[in-house]
Amino acid sequence: MDDTLDHHEDAARPRTRALATEAVHAGRDDLAALGLHAPPIDLSTTYPSADSRTEAARIDAFAADGVLDDGPPVYGRLGNPTVARFETALARLEGTEAAVAFASGMAALTAVLLVRRSAGLGHVVAVRPLYGCSDHLLDTGVLGTEVTWVDPAGIADAVRPDTGLVLVESPANPTLAEVDLRAVAHGCGTVPLLVDNTFATPVLQRPAESGARLVLHSATKFLGGHGDVLGGVVACDEEFAGQLRRMRFATGGVLHPLAGYLLLRGLATLPVRVRAASATAAELARRLAGDPRVSRVHYPRTGGAMVAFEVAGDPHAVTGGVELITPAVSLGSVDSLIQHPASISHRVVAADDRRAAGVGDRLLRLSVGLEDVDDLWADLDRALGEATPRTLAACSNHAHQGGTNPGTASSSTSPAG
Ligand SMILES: *Cc1c(COP(=O)(O)O)cnc(C)c1O
Repeated sequence: MDDTLDHHEDAARPRTRALATEAVHAGRDDLAALGLHAPPIDLSTTYPSADSRTEAARIDAFAADGVLDDGPPVYGRLGNPTVARFETALARLEGTEAAVAFASGMAALTAVLLVRRSAGLGHVVAVRPLYGCSDHLLDTGVLGTEVTWVDPAGIADAVRPDTGLVLVESPANPTLAEVDLRAVAHGCGTVPLLVDNTFATPVLQRPAESGARLVLHSATKFLGGHGDVLGGVVACDEEFAGQLRRMRFATGGVLHPLAGYLLLRGLATLPVRVRAASATAAELARRLAGDPRVSRVHYPRTGGAMVAFEVAGDPHAVTGGVELITPAVSLGSVDSLIQHPASISHRVVAADDRRAAGVGDRLLRLSVGLEDVDDLWADLDRALGEATPRTLAACSNHAHQGGTNPGTASSSTSPAG
Protein backbone atom coordinates (compact mmCIF):
# COMPACT_ATOMS: atom_id res chain seq x y z
CA MET A 1 0.00 0.00 0.00
CA ASP A 2 1.33 3.38 -0.96
CA ASP A 3 1.88 5.39 2.20
CA THR A 4 1.79 8.69 0.35
CA LEU A 5 -1.94 8.15 -0.03
CA ASP A 6 -2.43 8.60 3.67
CA HIS A 7 -1.69 12.28 4.03
CA HIS A 8 -5.31 13.47 3.78
CA GLU A 9 -6.44 10.95 6.29
CA ASP A 10 -6.64 10.72 10.02
CA ALA A 11 -3.08 11.09 11.31
CA ALA A 12 -3.86 8.80 14.23
CA ARG A 13 -4.52 5.85 11.93
CA PRO A 14 -1.61 3.44 11.46
CA ARG A 15 0.43 4.27 8.37
CA THR A 16 -0.16 0.97 6.68
CA ARG A 17 -2.79 -1.65 7.13
CA ALA A 18 -2.99 -4.97 5.36
CA LEU A 19 -5.56 -5.47 2.63
CA ALA A 20 -7.71 -7.76 4.77
CA THR A 21 -7.85 -5.07 7.46
CA GLU A 22 -8.62 -2.28 4.99
CA ALA A 23 -11.41 -4.40 3.47
CA VAL A 24 -13.19 -4.47 6.83
CA HIS A 25 -12.37 -0.98 8.15
CA ALA A 26 -11.83 1.43 5.25
CA GLY A 27 -14.71 3.84 4.75
CA ARG A 28 -15.80 3.25 8.34
CA ASP A 29 -13.11 5.09 10.26
CA ASP A 30 -15.56 7.70 11.62
CA LEU A 31 -18.25 5.31 12.79
CA ALA A 32 -17.10 4.92 16.38
CA ALA A 33 -16.98 8.71 16.79
CA LEU A 34 -20.54 8.84 15.43
CA GLY A 35 -21.60 6.27 18.01
CA LEU A 36 -22.40 3.75 15.27
CA HIS A 37 -21.28 0.28 14.35
CA ALA A 38 -22.96 -0.37 10.98
CA PRO A 39 -22.60 2.38 8.35
CA PRO A 40 -25.67 4.62 8.07
CA ILE A 41 -27.61 4.82 4.79
CA ASP A 42 -28.42 8.34 3.60
CA LEU A 43 -31.27 8.17 1.09
CA SER A 44 -31.71 11.94 0.70
CA THR A 45 -32.15 13.21 -2.82
CA THR A 46 -31.77 16.81 -1.65
CA TYR A 47 -30.33 18.71 1.32
CA PRO A 48 -31.32 21.97 3.04
CA SER A 49 -29.62 24.99 1.47
CA ALA A 50 -30.48 27.71 3.96
CA ASP A 51 -27.76 30.07 2.72
CA SER A 52 -28.07 30.34 -1.07
CA ARG A 53 -24.97 32.49 -1.44
CA THR A 54 -22.78 29.90 0.22
CA GLU A 55 -24.34 27.17 -1.88
CA ALA A 56 -23.67 29.15 -5.07
CA ALA A 57 -20.00 29.35 -4.15
CA ARG A 58 -19.86 25.62 -3.33
CA ILE A 59 -21.49 24.74 -6.67
CA ASP A 60 -19.00 27.00 -8.48
CA ALA A 61 -16.13 25.22 -6.73
CA PHE A 62 -17.55 21.82 -7.67
CA ALA A 63 -17.94 22.92 -11.29
CA ALA A 64 -14.29 24.02 -11.31
CA ASP A 65 -12.58 20.98 -9.77
CA GLY A 66 -15.21 18.36 -8.97
CA VAL A 67 -14.70 18.68 -5.21
CA LEU A 68 -17.54 19.67 -2.92
CA ASP A 69 -16.12 21.15 0.27
CA ASP A 70 -17.43 20.30 3.72
CA GLY A 71 -21.16 20.25 4.14
CA PRO A 72 -24.11 18.38 2.69
CA PRO A 73 -23.99 17.44 -1.04
CA VAL A 74 -26.69 19.98 -2.08
CA TYR A 75 -28.34 17.41 -4.37
CA GLY A 76 -28.01 13.65 -4.74
CA ARG A 77 -26.34 13.83 -8.13
CA LEU A 78 -23.34 15.75 -6.74
CA GLY A 79 -22.52 13.09 -4.18
CA ASN A 80 -23.85 10.87 -1.43
CA PRO A 81 -22.28 10.09 1.97
CA THR A 82 -23.07 6.36 1.85
CA VAL A 83 -21.68 6.01 -1.67
CA ALA A 84 -18.64 8.03 -0.55
CA ARG A 85 -17.86 5.37 2.07
CA PHE A 86 -17.69 2.74 -0.64
CA GLU A 87 -15.53 5.02 -2.80
CA THR A 88 -13.11 5.69 0.06
CA ALA A 89 -12.83 1.99 0.83
CA LEU A 90 -12.27 0.92 -2.78
CA ALA A 91 -9.59 3.60 -3.23
CA ARG A 92 -7.81 2.24 -0.15
CA LEU A 93 -7.91 -1.28 -1.56
CA GLU A 94 -6.63 -0.24 -4.99
CA GLY A 95 -4.01 2.09 -3.53
CA THR A 96 -5.27 5.23 -5.27
CA GLU A 97 -6.08 8.70 -3.97
CA ALA A 98 -9.76 8.50 -4.84
CA ALA A 99 -12.52 6.49 -6.46
CA VAL A 100 -15.77 7.51 -8.14
CA ALA A 101 -18.78 5.19 -8.21
CA PHE A 102 -21.37 4.85 -10.94
CA ALA A 103 -24.66 3.07 -11.61
CA SER A 104 -22.89 0.22 -13.43
CA GLY A 105 -19.56 -0.73 -14.91
CA MET A 106 -20.72 0.55 -18.29
CA ALA A 107 -21.75 3.90 -16.77
CA ALA A 108 -18.24 4.14 -15.27
CA LEU A 109 -16.54 3.42 -18.60
CA THR A 110 -18.87 5.85 -20.35
CA ALA A 111 -17.91 8.64 -17.95
CA VAL A 112 -14.18 8.00 -18.50
CA LEU A 113 -14.61 8.10 -22.29
CA LEU A 114 -16.69 11.29 -22.13
CA VAL A 115 -14.13 13.02 -19.89
CA ARG A 116 -11.42 12.34 -22.45
CA ARG A 117 -13.62 13.02 -25.50
CA SER A 118 -14.72 16.37 -24.09
CA ALA A 119 -11.05 17.34 -23.77
CA GLY A 120 -10.59 16.73 -27.52
CA LEU A 121 -8.90 13.39 -26.84
CA GLY A 122 -11.42 11.02 -28.36
CA HIS A 123 -9.02 8.43 -29.77
CA VAL A 124 -8.77 5.22 -27.76
CA VAL A 125 -6.21 2.45 -28.12
CA ALA A 126 -7.53 -0.87 -26.84
CA VAL A 127 -6.49 -4.51 -26.61
CA ARG A 128 -8.94 -7.34 -27.30
CA PRO A 129 -10.59 -9.23 -25.82
CA LEU A 130 -12.60 -6.91 -23.62
CA TYR A 131 -15.94 -7.51 -21.97
CA GLY A 132 -18.44 -7.66 -24.86
CA CYS A 133 -20.29 -4.43 -24.10
CA SER A 134 -17.02 -2.50 -23.56
CA ASP A 135 -15.89 -3.74 -26.97
CA HIS A 136 -19.26 -2.73 -28.45
CA LEU A 137 -19.21 0.73 -26.84
CA LEU A 138 -15.78 1.44 -28.32
CA ASP A 139 -16.33 -0.24 -31.67
CA THR A 140 -19.61 1.56 -32.42
CA GLY A 141 -18.11 4.94 -31.50
CA VAL A 142 -21.52 5.91 -30.17
CA LEU A 143 -19.90 8.32 -27.66
CA GLY A 144 -17.96 10.09 -30.40
CA THR A 145 -14.76 8.19 -29.70
CA GLU A 146 -12.66 6.29 -32.23
CA VAL A 147 -10.87 3.06 -31.40
CA THR A 148 -7.70 1.43 -32.69
CA TRP A 149 -7.46 -2.26 -31.73
CA VAL A 150 -3.90 -3.46 -31.14
CA ASP A 151 -1.82 -6.20 -29.58
CA PRO A 152 -0.15 -5.12 -26.33
CA ALA A 153 3.16 -4.69 -28.18
CA GLY A 154 1.52 -2.31 -30.66
CA ILE A 155 0.28 0.28 -28.15
CA ALA A 156 3.14 2.77 -28.43
CA ASP A 157 2.90 2.84 -32.25
CA ALA A 158 -0.88 3.33 -32.17
CA VAL A 159 -0.78 6.39 -29.90
CA ARG A 160 -1.64 9.65 -31.71
CA PRO A 161 -1.72 13.29 -30.58
CA ASP A 162 -5.48 12.94 -29.93
CA THR A 163 -5.22 9.64 -28.04
CA GLY A 164 -6.96 10.10 -24.70
CA LEU A 165 -6.95 6.60 -23.30
CA VAL A 166 -5.39 3.17 -23.52
CA LEU A 167 -7.69 0.40 -22.33
CA VAL A 168 -6.86 -3.18 -21.35
CA GLU A 169 -8.44 -5.94 -19.31
CA SER A 170 -6.24 -8.42 -17.48
CA PRO A 171 -7.19 -11.17 -16.98
CA ALA A 172 -9.54 -10.47 -19.85
CA ASN A 173 -13.19 -11.34 -20.13
CA PRO A 174 -13.82 -14.09 -21.23
CA THR A 175 -10.55 -15.79 -22.28
CA LEU A 176 -8.56 -14.83 -19.15
CA ALA A 177 -5.71 -13.66 -21.40
CA GLU A 178 -3.23 -11.59 -19.42
CA VAL A 179 -1.12 -8.63 -20.40
CA ASP A 180 2.08 -7.40 -18.76
CA LEU A 181 0.70 -4.28 -17.11
CA ARG A 182 4.10 -2.66 -16.52
CA ALA A 183 5.09 -3.11 -20.15
CA VAL A 184 1.72 -1.79 -21.30
CA ALA A 185 1.99 1.24 -19.00
CA HIS A 186 5.41 1.94 -20.45
CA GLY A 187 4.01 1.78 -23.99
CA CYS A 188 1.35 4.37 -23.08
CA GLY A 189 3.85 7.14 -22.47
CA THR A 190 1.84 10.05 -21.07
CA VAL A 191 -1.55 8.69 -22.19
CA PRO A 192 -3.63 7.47 -19.24
CA LEU A 193 -3.86 3.70 -19.00
CA LEU A 194 -7.18 2.26 -17.85
CA VAL A 195 -7.05 -1.30 -16.56
CA ASP A 196 -10.34 -3.11 -16.08
CA ASN A 197 -9.55 -5.04 -12.89
CA THR A 198 -12.98 -6.65 -12.52
CA PHE A 199 -11.65 -10.22 -12.81
CA ALA A 200 -8.57 -9.97 -10.58
CA THR A 201 -9.96 -7.60 -7.92
CA PRO A 202 -7.48 -5.66 -5.73
CA VAL A 203 -7.00 -8.86 -3.74
CA LEU A 204 -4.94 -10.40 -6.56
CA GLN A 205 -3.72 -7.40 -8.55
CA ARG A 206 -3.45 -3.64 -8.01
CA PRO A 207 -2.86 -2.08 -11.43
CA ALA A 208 -2.11 1.39 -10.05
CA GLU A 209 1.13 -0.05 -8.67
CA SER A 210 2.05 -1.06 -12.24
CA GLY A 211 1.40 2.36 -13.72
CA ALA A 212 -2.33 2.38 -14.49
CA ARG A 213 -3.83 5.84 -13.95
CA LEU A 214 -7.38 4.47 -13.94
CA VAL A 215 -8.60 1.18 -12.48
CA LEU A 216 -12.14 0.22 -13.45
CA HIS A 217 -14.46 -2.32 -11.86
CA SER A 218 -17.82 -3.66 -12.68
CA ALA A 219 -18.70 -3.61 -8.96
CA THR A 220 -21.65 -5.80 -9.95
CA LYS A 221 -19.24 -8.72 -9.92
CA PHE A 222 -16.77 -9.57 -7.13
CA LEU A 223 -16.98 -6.30 -5.17
CA GLY A 224 -20.70 -6.77 -4.53
CA GLY A 225 -20.17 -10.48 -4.56
CA HIS A 226 -23.73 -11.68 -4.02
CA GLY A 227 -25.39 -11.10 -7.38
CA ASP A 228 -27.79 -8.51 -5.98
CA VAL A 229 -26.36 -5.10 -6.86
CA LEU A 230 -25.34 -3.33 -10.08
CA GLY A 231 -22.55 -0.79 -9.83
CA GLY A 232 -19.31 0.46 -11.31
CA VAL A 233 -16.32 2.34 -9.96
CA VAL A 234 -13.13 4.00 -11.18
CA ALA A 235 -10.15 4.23 -8.81
CA CYS A 236 -7.74 7.00 -9.77
CA ASP A 237 -5.90 10.14 -8.70
CA GLU A 238 -7.80 13.05 -7.18
CA GLU A 239 -7.49 15.20 -10.32
CA PHE A 240 -9.13 12.63 -12.59
CA ALA A 241 -11.69 11.84 -9.88
CA GLY A 242 -12.79 15.48 -9.93
CA GLN A 243 -13.38 15.26 -13.68
CA LEU A 244 -15.34 12.05 -13.23
CA ARG A 245 -17.54 13.55 -10.49
CA ARG A 246 -18.34 16.50 -12.74
CA MET A 247 -19.16 14.15 -15.62
CA ARG A 248 -21.32 12.06 -13.28
CA PHE A 249 -23.15 15.21 -12.21
CA ALA A 250 -23.63 16.25 -15.84
CA THR A 251 -24.75 12.89 -17.21
CA GLY A 252 -26.43 11.31 -14.18
CA GLY A 253 -25.03 7.78 -13.95
CA VAL A 254 -25.05 7.83 -10.15
CA LEU A 255 -24.89 4.81 -7.87
CA HIS A 256 -27.92 4.46 -5.60
CA PRO A 257 -27.09 4.79 -1.86
CA LEU A 258 -28.54 1.35 -1.10
CA ALA A 259 -26.20 -0.07 -3.74
CA GLY A 260 -23.35 1.88 -2.14
CA TYR A 261 -24.19 0.30 1.20
CA LEU A 262 -24.28 -3.21 -0.28
CA LEU A 263 -20.98 -2.68 -2.11
CA LEU A 264 -19.29 -1.46 1.07
CA ARG A 265 -20.59 -4.53 2.87
CA GLY A 266 -19.35 -6.71 0.01
CA LEU A 267 -15.82 -5.31 0.33
CA ALA A 268 -15.53 -6.55 3.91
CA THR A 269 -15.54 -10.18 2.75
CA LEU A 270 -13.83 -9.61 -0.62
CA PRO A 271 -10.40 -11.02 0.34
CA VAL A 272 -11.91 -14.10 1.98
CA ARG A 273 -14.31 -14.75 -0.89
CA VAL A 274 -11.74 -14.24 -3.64
CA ARG A 275 -9.13 -16.45 -2.00
CA ALA A 276 -11.58 -19.26 -1.28
CA ALA A 277 -13.14 -19.18 -4.75
CA SER A 278 -9.69 -19.00 -6.36
CA ALA A 279 -8.53 -22.14 -4.61
CA THR A 280 -11.62 -23.97 -5.85
CA ALA A 281 -11.24 -22.53 -9.36
CA ALA A 282 -7.61 -23.63 -9.56
CA GLU A 283 -8.59 -27.16 -8.59
CA LEU A 284 -11.44 -27.24 -11.11
CA ALA A 285 -9.07 -25.93 -13.80
CA ARG A 286 -6.70 -28.76 -12.94
CA ARG A 287 -9.44 -31.40 -13.21
CA LEU A 288 -10.80 -29.92 -16.45
CA ALA A 289 -7.30 -29.90 -17.94
CA GLY A 290 -7.03 -33.63 -17.32
CA ASP A 291 -10.40 -34.40 -18.86
CA PRO A 292 -10.56 -35.66 -22.46
CA ARG A 293 -13.96 -34.02 -23.01
CA VAL A 294 -12.27 -30.65 -22.58
CA SER A 295 -9.95 -29.51 -25.35
CA ARG A 296 -8.41 -26.52 -23.64
CA VAL A 297 -8.44 -24.81 -20.26
CA HIS A 298 -7.55 -21.19 -19.57
CA TYR A 299 -6.59 -20.30 -16.04
CA PRO A 300 -4.48 -17.19 -15.44
CA ARG A 301 -1.19 -16.78 -13.60
CA THR A 302 -2.91 -14.16 -11.50
CA GLY A 303 -5.26 -16.84 -10.21
CA GLY A 304 -8.83 -15.90 -9.45
CA ALA A 305 -12.28 -17.37 -9.46
CA MET A 306 -12.74 -17.50 -13.24
CA VAL A 307 -12.04 -20.51 -15.45
CA ALA A 308 -12.56 -20.61 -19.20
CA PHE A 309 -12.54 -23.87 -21.12
CA GLU A 310 -13.26 -25.19 -24.57
CA VAL A 311 -15.27 -28.35 -24.87
CA ALA A 312 -14.90 -31.03 -27.48
CA GLY A 313 -18.67 -31.55 -27.57
CA ASP A 314 -21.64 -29.19 -27.56
CA PRO A 315 -21.14 -26.16 -25.25
CA HIS A 316 -24.90 -25.50 -25.21
CA ALA A 317 -25.48 -28.94 -23.77
CA VAL A 318 -23.11 -28.11 -20.90
CA THR A 319 -24.93 -24.90 -19.96
CA GLY A 320 -28.22 -26.76 -20.41
CA GLY A 321 -27.02 -29.70 -18.31
CA VAL A 322 -25.73 -28.10 -15.11
CA GLU A 323 -27.98 -28.29 -12.07
CA LEU A 324 -26.02 -26.86 -9.14
CA ILE A 325 -24.21 -24.23 -11.20
CA THR A 326 -26.54 -21.55 -12.57
CA PRO A 327 -26.41 -21.11 -16.34
CA ALA A 328 -26.32 -17.31 -16.38
CA VAL A 329 -24.25 -14.38 -17.52
CA SER A 330 -22.39 -12.25 -14.94
CA LEU A 331 -19.82 -13.48 -12.46
CA GLY A 332 -18.25 -12.93 -9.09
CA SER A 333 -21.11 -14.14 -6.94
CA VAL A 334 -21.01 -16.49 -3.93
CA ASP A 335 -22.67 -19.08 -6.17
CA SER A 336 -21.16 -20.48 -9.37
CA LEU A 337 -22.34 -19.34 -12.80
CA ILE A 338 -21.54 -20.64 -16.27
CA GLN A 339 -22.26 -19.11 -19.66
CA HIS A 340 -21.40 -19.38 -23.35
CA PRO A 341 -19.68 -16.08 -24.30
CA ALA A 342 -20.31 -16.40 -28.05
CA SER A 343 -24.06 -16.55 -27.29
CA ILE A 344 -24.37 -14.14 -24.38
CA SER A 345 -21.63 -11.93 -22.88
CA HIS A 346 -19.85 -11.38 -26.21
CA ARG A 347 -22.83 -11.70 -28.54
CA VAL A 348 -22.67 -7.97 -29.38
CA VAL A 349 -19.13 -8.36 -30.76
CA ALA A 350 -19.04 -9.20 -34.49
CA ALA A 351 -18.37 -12.92 -34.96
CA ASP A 352 -15.08 -12.39 -36.84
CA ASP A 353 -13.73 -9.99 -34.24
CA ARG A 354 -14.85 -12.31 -31.48
CA ARG A 355 -13.07 -15.32 -32.93
CA ALA A 356 -9.95 -13.31 -33.72
CA ALA A 357 -9.83 -12.28 -30.06
CA GLY A 358 -9.83 -15.92 -29.01
CA VAL A 359 -13.51 -16.18 -28.09
CA GLY A 360 -14.25 -19.43 -29.87
CA ASP A 361 -17.65 -21.03 -30.36
CA ARG A 362 -16.83 -23.88 -27.99
CA LEU A 363 -15.59 -21.65 -25.17
CA LEU A 364 -17.42 -21.63 -21.84
CA ARG A 365 -16.81 -19.21 -19.00
CA LEU A 366 -17.19 -20.46 -15.44
CA SER A 367 -17.39 -18.13 -12.44
CA VAL A 368 -16.56 -20.22 -9.40
CA GLY A 369 -18.39 -19.48 -6.16
CA LEU A 370 -18.03 -20.73 -2.63
CA GLU A 371 -19.60 -24.18 -3.01
CA ASP A 372 -17.68 -27.35 -2.21
CA VAL A 373 -15.23 -28.26 -4.97
CA ASP A 374 -16.40 -31.87 -5.25
CA ASP A 375 -20.05 -30.84 -5.59
CA LEU A 376 -19.08 -28.42 -8.37
CA TRP A 377 -16.98 -31.04 -10.09
CA ALA A 378 -19.80 -33.60 -9.91
CA ASP A 379 -22.11 -31.10 -11.61
CA LEU A 380 -19.59 -30.25 -14.34
CA ASP A 381 -18.67 -33.89 -14.84
CA ARG A 382 -22.28 -34.87 -15.44
CA ALA A 383 -23.01 -31.89 -17.72
CA LEU A 384 -19.88 -32.64 -19.75
CA GLY A 385 -20.99 -36.25 -20.05
CA GLU A 386 -24.32 -35.16 -21.51
CA ALA A 387 -22.56 -32.78 -23.88
CA THR A 388 -20.00 -35.18 -25.26
CA PRO A 389 -20.57 -37.72 -28.05
CA ARG A 390 -20.08 -41.28 -26.83
CA THR A 391 -17.24 -41.98 -29.23
CA LEU A 392 -15.26 -39.08 -27.87
CA ALA A 393 -15.85 -39.97 -24.26
CA ALA A 394 -14.75 -43.53 -25.05
CA CYS A 395 -11.48 -42.21 -26.47
CA SER A 396 -10.57 -40.78 -23.09
CA ASN A 397 -7.45 -42.89 -22.68
CA HIS A 398 -6.06 -41.54 -25.96
CA ALA A 399 -6.07 -38.00 -24.66
CA HIS A 400 -2.70 -36.58 -23.86
CA GLN A 401 -1.83 -33.50 -21.92
CA GLY A 402 0.52 -30.85 -23.14
CA GLY A 403 0.81 -27.61 -25.01
CA THR A 404 0.33 -24.15 -23.68
CA ASN A 405 -1.88 -21.37 -24.79
CA PRO A 406 0.09 -18.28 -25.73
CA GLY A 407 -0.97 -15.25 -23.76
CA THR A 408 -2.35 -17.16 -20.81
CA ALA A 409 -0.72 -19.47 -18.35
CA SER A 410 -3.19 -22.14 -19.22
CA SER A 411 -3.24 -25.69 -18.39
CA SER A 412 -4.16 -27.25 -21.65
CA THR A 413 -5.04 -30.58 -23.14
CA SER A 414 -5.21 -31.59 -26.75
CA PRO A 415 -8.58 -32.61 -28.05
CA ALA A 416 -9.12 -36.33 -27.92
CA GLY A 417 -9.74 -37.88 -31.31
C1 LIG B 1 -19.60 -6.94 -16.42
C2 LIG B 1 -18.38 -6.26 -16.85
C3 LIG B 1 -18.38 -4.90 -17.20
C4 LIG B 1 -19.67 -4.09 -17.25
O1 LIG B 1 -20.18 -3.90 -15.97
P1 LIG B 1 -21.75 -3.70 -15.66
O2 LIG B 1 -21.76 -3.52 -14.19
O3 LIG B 1 -22.44 -4.92 -16.14
O4 LIG B 1 -22.18 -2.49 -16.41
C5 LIG B 1 -17.18 -4.30 -17.53
N1 LIG B 1 -16.03 -5.00 -17.54
C6 LIG B 1 -15.99 -6.31 -17.22
C7 LIG B 1 -14.68 -7.02 -17.25
C8 LIG B 1 -17.15 -6.98 -16.87
O5 LIG B 1 -17.09 -8.28 -16.57
